[in-house]
Parts: sequence; structure tokens; C-alpha cells
Amino acid sequence: MSTLFNDTKIAFRSKSNKQLLQAYWLFRLMGFPELTKIGTYFIKTALKAPLGLKKVIKSTLYQQFCGGETLPECEKTMAELARFGVFSIPDYVAEGQETQQAFDQAMFQVLETIQMASRNSSIGFAVFKVTALGSAQVLSRKQAGLLLSDAEEQEWELIQKRVHHIISSAVEAGVRVMIDAEESWIQDVIDELAYSAMFLYNIDKAWVFNTCQMYRSDMPARLKKLKAMAVEKHFIPGVKLVRGAYLEKENKRAAQLNYQSPIWSTKKETDQAYDEALDYCFAQGIALCIGTHNEDSVETAIRLMKKNNVTSNNENYCFAQLFGMSDHITFNLAEQGYRAAKYLPFGPMKLSLPYLFRRANENKSVSGQSSRELELLKKELRRRKNS
Ligand SMILES: Cc1cc2nc3c(=O)[nH]c(=O)nc-3n(C[C@H](O)[C@H](O)[C@H](O)COP(=O)(O)OP(=O)(O)OC[C@H]3O[C@@H](n4cnc5c(N)ncnc54)[C@H](O)[C@@H]3O)c2cc1C
Repeated sequence: MSTLFNDTKIAFRSKSNKQLLQAYWLFRLMGFPELTKIGTYFIKTALKAPLGLKKVIKSTLYQQFCGGETLPECEKTMAELARFGVFSIPDYVAEGQETQQAFDQAMFQVLETIQMASRNSSIGFAVFKVTALGSAQVLSRKQAGLLLSDAEEQEWELIQKRVHHIISSAVEAGVRVMIDAEESWIQDVIDELAYSAMFLYNIDKAWVFNTCQMYRSDMPARLKKLKAMAVEKHFIPGVKLVRGAYLEKENKRAAQLNYQSPIWSTKKETDQAYDEALDYCFAQGIALCIGTHNEDSVETAIRLMKKNNVTSNNENYCFAQLFGMSDHITFNLAEQGYRAAKYLPFGPMKLSLPYLFRRANENKSVSGQSSRELELLKKELRRRKNS
């Protein structure tokens, strides 16, 4: 492991011994693929599950990866992160919702985040998913160029209104806002919404950040297109760089519908594209949120900051990891003066299940993320025992 991140005392200083032990057992359990499969089945059916099971999920997965059911419930965690120089990006996670009421509710939650962020400097950004604000089906039909019914046209109008209401409120309140990336069959529509918002608002600085998933083989070209558009239309581009969370879903759909998957065929190609995108963004002055748990990419970013004379506290560049993961990166970065953040998911437990399901699956590979987390947790538990 890089010497930059190997100080586990700093990495886990916000965690009590009990919290460390709980995290240790959770990552151990997630390291058993069969158990994760069974757990995932239960998570998916937890709506109908008995109260006991819901309690178990709440005190394990939910507690590890979410800040609370409501924004005020997250305040304690946000204050704890701020104490160590880490800022929060509260993220309302309610996925798979389909009613107008739920879409409005999601918008109000993001607006509440913006209000809180305008008063609380430990909140770095507001963030939202477009599919939390409107039907994914309408977005998909729109991208496919299909004729929308009157009802669908109305829904599309509502989606645009909600997106613009959030972004204009954020800019008015002096709060930056990020738009999450989703599946490729709706992402063009999301990108268009983001580009038009950047054109409107990113004049004096990058208020709006769109997300680029570097596991997509067309993403280097799309990034260049964004830069060209920014030059032509005189706006400052802002980008959150991630690798991408929907790999299996993307590949499965491409195979089912018999088209070429938009995803690179190897992890190595994704890694290379990610690091080249970092290089490109720094060289081209694109404001960046570096969203990754990959230590090599974080080190590359730090090297590029130095090469491009970007100071560690430059407000146009920050690092972000998900709450409950890679504390060794976030807390050590903050300790060294970099702008480091945690994406802090919040929302009712039953609506957070798809998010938890993605985290459990991401951590199920024994050779992957969970083993990294486990090794660090073990090291810190041992250190505390001996000191
Ligand atoms: C702050 C933050 C915000 C995020 N926001 C979003 C978002 O808006 N949208 C989104 O989709 N995801 C988002 N993610 C999740 C992200 O896309 C990744 O799934 C996750 O961070 C794991 O990638 P990594 O860079 O941390 O590290 P690594 O563990 O090094 O990489 C794992 C990733 O590599 C890619 N990969 C794995 N195997 C292959 C393969 N065989 N071929 C090609 N590529 C492969 C996949 O993208 C996989 O997730 C976010 C993550 C963070 C930390």
C-alpha cells in the first residue's frame, strides 16, 4: 500500500473500537460471495421481511454505508467528519421510485441539503440523480428518439423543471451541485441537462459538475467534446470523474439486445482511461471531483496537481470517497491538507436498499475492495490492542 495512506491511526480516528469491530465483521461477511448472494436476496425482499431482519440490516449494512434516515439525522456524522477536516456531500438515496409524489419528495430533500449547505460550510456539494426526479422509462424513450405520449411529454417537462429548480436554488444559495451518472441508455439525456445548466451557471466558477464514467470506452471523446463546447460557449466545465457503477447491468443489456457493450473490455483499460482523463482535466483546467477508492489513481491525481502547480486547497479540485469505504484515503488526504469529502447517503432504509445492494456486491470479491478494507481494519485493531 502507498505510504500516503498507510496511517491507520489517522484513517480510523473517527471510529470507536466497537464501530471498528462491527465494520471488520461486516467486511468479513461480505467477503463470502455465497453469503452476499443470500444477503442480497434478503435485502431485495426486505420490504416484506420481518422486523427482526430489518433491524439486522439497519445495524449492519445501513449503519456502515448510510448517514441516517433524514438529513438532520446525519448532522452528528457530518460534524464528526468535519472535526477531521473531511467535508460531506449528503446524497438522498431513494432509488426505483415511480410516483410524482416520490419525485417531488426527492427534490425537496435535495433542496433541504442546499439550505443546510448554505449555512454549514462542512457540506461541500449538493448532489442528485436525475432518475430520483422522474421516470427512468421516459428518459430512456427520450434518448432513443421515440415519440413521447402527452403524459410522457408532461413528465419530461416536470423532470426538467425539477432539475432546474434544484440547480438555480443551489447557485442562488452559493452551493455547488453535482449530477450523478447513470446507465448509458439514459445518460445522453442527463448529459444534455447538465451541459445546459453549465452553460447557464458556470460563468464565474464551476457551480455545476457532471459525472464522467471512465469505464465507458467513448468517454475520452465525450470529455473532449465537453471541453470544446465550454470553449465555444464560454463556460467553465466541472466534472466528477468515476469509473462507473453499472458494469454488470451494462454488459448484460448489451448481450441481451445484441449490441456492443459501451464498457471497456478490461479493468486495465478502464484504469488507464481514468488516469488519462485526470491528466486531461488538469491540463485543460477542468474543475474536478476525483471520485475513486483506487489508491493509484489518487496518487496520480496528487502527482498531476504538483505538475500543474495546483495547490492542495484549490477549491476547484477535491477528492471524494463513499461513506463507509476507504477511510484510509479520505482521512489521510484531509490530514495532508487536500480537499477530501465523503459522499454521505441518507434516506429511509427501505429506499436505500438498491444502494446497499450495490455496496455489498462491490465488496464481495475477496481479492477486491473488501480485502483492502479488511486488511486496514485488522491493522488498526491490532495497533489499538498493542498501544
Ligand atoms: C464519490 C463517488 C461518487 C460516485 N458517483 C458515481 C456516479 O455518479 N455514477 C456511477 O456510475 N458511479 C459512481 N461512483 C461509483 C464508481 O463508479 C465506482 O463504482 C467505484 O468507485 C469503484 O471504482 P474505484 O475507482 O473506486 O476503484 P476500483 O476498485 O479500482 O475499480 C472498480 C471499477 O473498475 C471498473 N471495472 C471493474 N472491472 C472491469 C472490467 N472487467 N472492465 C472494465 N471496467 C472494469 C468498474 O467501473 C468498477 O466499479 C461513485 C464513487 C465515488 C467514490
